Amino acid sequence: MTAIRAAVCHGAHGPFSIEEAAIDGPRAGEVLVRIVGAGICHTDMAARDQQVPVPLPIVLGHEGSGVIEAVGPGVTEVAPGDAVILTFASCGTCSNCSDDAPAYCYQFGLYNFSGGRPDGSKAFNAEQGVIHSHFFGQSSFATHALASERNVVKVPASAAHVPLDLLGPLGCGLQTGAGAVLNSMAVKSGRALLVIGAGAVGLSAVMAGKIAGANPIIAVDLHDNRLALARELGATHTVKGGGDLEAALREICPEGLHYAFDTTGIAALIELAFSWLAPRGIVGLVGAADPAAMLHLNEMALMGGGKRIMGILEGDSDPKIFIPELIEHHIAGRFPFEKLVETFAFEEINEAFAAGESGRVIKPILKVS
Ligand SMILES: [Zn+2]
Ligand SMILES: [Zn+2]
Repeated sequence: MTAIRAAVCHGAHGPFSIEEAAIDGPRAGEVLVRIVGAGICHTDMAARDQQVPVPLPIVLGHEGSGVIEAVGPGVTEVAPGDAVILTFASCGTCSNCSDDAPAYCYQFGLYNFSGGRPDGSKAFNAEQGVIHSHFFGQSSFATHALASERNVVKVPASAAHVPLDLLGPLGCGLQTGAGAVLNSMAVKSGRALLVIGAGAVGLSAVMAGKIAGANPIIAVDLHDNRLALARELGATHTVKGGGDLEAALREICPEGLHYAFDTTGIAALIELAFSWLAPRGIVGLVGAADPAAMLHLNEMALMGGGKRIMGILEGDSDPKIFIPELIEHHIAGRFPFEKLVETFAFEEINEAFAAGESGRVIKPILKVS
């Protein structure tokens, strides 16, 4: 049992409150991580607001980075003192985990959104009552997190000079956007890529599109500052949201789009991107729409052109392989995600959320210790 401080979420209509609690020692297969940094991702807001239902009160946070403080029995991949990035959790035994596709784990909800370990136990013993844990197998808005050996990725020695607090977002938002381009859609050099929404996920897709050699790379967003950053990161064209996207696409890529990547979940934009696909084109989707929203697509247009619509989670990342690859791109200057980041003190968590929600900051990161 270790005394910790955790930012507790009581629901959509109150601020996070930093409270004292105690966290278990690691059980078999688990690791106790002293959290150094924790990124804020859209799914934290969705869970706070119960769009993603999680039990309350809960400690959110799923882009943690930190240092291993203790390991449970049977843990062999990491040891105390190792710097790690925390990522989503998965069972390791279902058909998709066996296929190295852990983002589609059959037990994903149980491992990431149930508010505790799969057996129902919690990480925290708080004097004030039950606090739920294990959000994305980590709950990293706290000074310490209990994760499993399976959902931590060791920071390679080559990245020892990179500030550890910056690396947490590789565990969710950054691998989602980059993985969608490099893994899910497997974007090819010289082909047209449209990215709708230039937040952390969309801009990661722009950087990855440049790595893949996509051309043109067209970014769409409502905010001029994000479009300017998209150009700096590799977009060859930008289109202001609300303008005539179709006219812009007709001019930029008259043959149609080979790839369209939507981060907004807005049906009208997805349908427009689909209508502008070249034969064999792919639309990749990561946006969280209203649960009742439907897409309207023409069957002949989908079938006849050999087109594909692809739902994507976590960029189809196998994190222990893909996150070290992204770190190598970062070190080589090809994935400069630090340009998306602004850091906040742990105690400023409510200000950090507000900055992320207003659009002022693309990727807020809490410096926890
Ligand atoms: Zn699984
Ligand atoms: Zn996330």
